Amino acid sequence: MAASVMPAFAQGEVTLYTTREAGLVQPLLTAFTATTGTKVNTVFVKDGLLERVKAEGARSPADVLMTVDIGNLMDLVEGGVTQPVKSAGLNSAIPANLRGADGQWFALSLRARVLYADKDLKLGAFRYEDLADPKWKGKVCIRAGQHPYNTALVASMIAHDGEAKTEQWLQGVKANLARKATGGDRDVARDILGGICDVGLANSYYVGQMKSAKEGTDARKWGDAIQVVRPTFANGKSGGTHVNISGASVAKNAPNRDNAVKLLEFLVSESAQALYADANYEYPVRKGVALDPIIGKTIGELKVDPLPLTEIAKHRKQASVLIDKVGFDK
Ligand code: FE
Repeated sequence: MAASVMPAFAQGEVTLYTTREAGLVQPLLTAFTATTGTKVNTVFVKDGLLERVKAEGARSPADVLMTVDIGNLMDLVEGGVTQPVKSAGLNSAIPANLRGADGQWFALSLRARVLYADKDLKLGAFRYEDLADPKWKGKVCIRAGQHPYNTALVASMIAHDGEAKTEQWLQGVKANLARKATGGDRDVARDILGGICDVGLANSYYVGQMKSAKEGTDARKWGDAIQVVRPTFANGKSGGTHVNISGASVAKNAPNRDNAVKLLEFLVSESAQALYADANYEYPVRKGVALDPIIGKTIGELKVDPLPLTEIAKHRKQASVLIDKVGFDK
């Protein structure tokens, strides 16, 4: 952008380290610069975000650290590379269960762990616990238990149902598997189309990706083979669905701290939240923002499990141990 068209209040710069794809992040950053005049230096970090920021230490140029999965965000906090932020704007836009109590991390968008099912099945309400019901014997497909999407769900189940019941559940689901727990989330839809399984758990945004794929492509056929249900927890009095997040923290040694907070505040604004829905079929974290039409039609409004993600994340290690104990991925 030429200096002459910069807004009069143009102010400085901010450096973002992100593990997210450029195609998703760039439209948001372009909009931020157009609105505020603040330049964004983006560093796309594929792996080892925490290690990199740690190694850079006090001289790190990073202002904002952005990634996906509550586990990755907690690792940044526990690794000591974030700092607390107090922002009325962030606190009012983001529900308390979806940010660190001390402002060390903030959710920016949501992905629900939902049930993919054969589109011809007659299904009513579905609870995560139901997946262990023997009636699904030989009919369940899911990716590896040790994948972060599933360890977060199992951690959440431990928080809801306790360790003993969660272990039984894992054994039940394992006994119901139609095939080894492996592959990706879209493979659940692929294998439903292929007649290998009837049901499985996978992330919500893949539904948007598949159902919007070009007519005639494999992805579109997989998407068209499924219906989607938002499961709840048997023990969750609230009836919410398990979500994971994309999120961000302000870096501990941020040279441009004020601009870092401004960027986060912009990312939860109504316009930026609508971009999240458009670009990757994610659920906005801010209430009242329109869903992507495909997500709205096939999955619908999300009722989020109100258990704090921080509480769920405490059980991550325990979840991983249980998954190994029952040989879920064997
Ligand atoms: Fe994914």
